[in-house]
Amino acid sequence: MRRNVPGIIYLIHFDEPLRRGRGGNDEDCVSHYLGWTEGTLTDGLNSHDLIVRMVEHLEGRGARILNALNERGIGWRPVAAWDANNPPAWLKRPKGCRLRYWPDGEPFRATRFDERRLKKARNAPRFCPCCVELRDKREACVEARAEGKAEAA
Ligand SMILES: [Zn+2]
Repeated sequence: MRRNVPGIIYLIHFDEPLRRGRGGNDEDCVSHYLGWTEGTLTDGLNSHDLIVRMVEHLEGRGARILNALNERGIGWRPVAAWDANNPPAWLKRPKGCRLRYWPDGEPFRATRFDERRLKKARNAPRFCPCCVELRDKREACVEARAEGKAEAA
């Protein structure tokens, strides 16, 4: 497999987490899929090369995990995509980012090798704009509650 070909790395967010394994506890839940495809981003999430890949996933010609979602009728959608010309913002802005697998100064080329590295980081929700928005809201809520308690005391 050609690991050094620049392409597109994309993140898919599941409408519902998929449980796998027998335990069925939260640790076994998967809520995102990170993938790679050949091509370039010409129009963000509407880029032709990305859409072609999404159709493959819809038709069951892509990742097995997405087939499992399709079989269970769980929706999913691409929420972010990056290529060498559109690197993820968090690569340039490491503050508050727990990504530990990216060596300093190494360029982002969106190769399969880069995809592997991101998969190893296992923090896809952190890259997900939907989940980040939810998390920010939740944190703001917790903070507001903590402040309210402090005032009441
Ligand atoms: Zn998400």
